[in-house]
Amino acid sequence: MVDLPEQGNANVRAPNYYIASTRAECWHCGRSTRVLALALPPTHETLDVDTREIGDWRPAGAHAIIFYVAQLPDTVQNRLRDLSSQFCMGYSDITSNSYWVNHCQHCAALLDDHELHCEPSGAFMPGSESTAANIQLLPIGEAFQAVAAGFALEPEFFQSMSKA
Ligand SMILES: [Zn+2]
Repeated sequence: MVDLPEQGNANVRAPNYYIASTRAECWHCGRSTRVLALALPPTHETLDVDTREIGDWRPAGAHAIIFYVAQLPDTVQNRLRDLSSQFCMGYSDITSNSYWVNHCQHCAALLDDHELHCEPSGAFMPGSESTAANIQLLPIGEAFQAVAAGFALEPEFFQSMSKA
């Protein structure tokens, strides 16, 4: 029996997850704004793209912070909306598509995931234990699945992030 996710083309799933939050300086208006991200426990699984047809889920065996998230189930969307109205679907000129992206709470500028997740000293790429400690992880004991294009496996200093 093939265990297909409810959401047809989800490529990552987990029995539980974390909502990560920290602050970043908006690179448009220069003010400090809250930013969110999604983090997954080592029990998360990813769908092998090459064998997607037969639903070959592979255990990751590592923590992950995911980004460029294109689809989320309602349960996860509601959790995120409870925490922030600034993390929502938005169209990025950089990627030329829409995904769950942070917006500055002051000027509403779109804060692309590339800057937050892929640049050294990006808000979700801490360069030290002390900056990692500024990231708070809120554990959510609910099933998770998503369509995501970005994965940071076993992010550096993950253990230093604060468990809420
Ligand atoms: Zn701003």
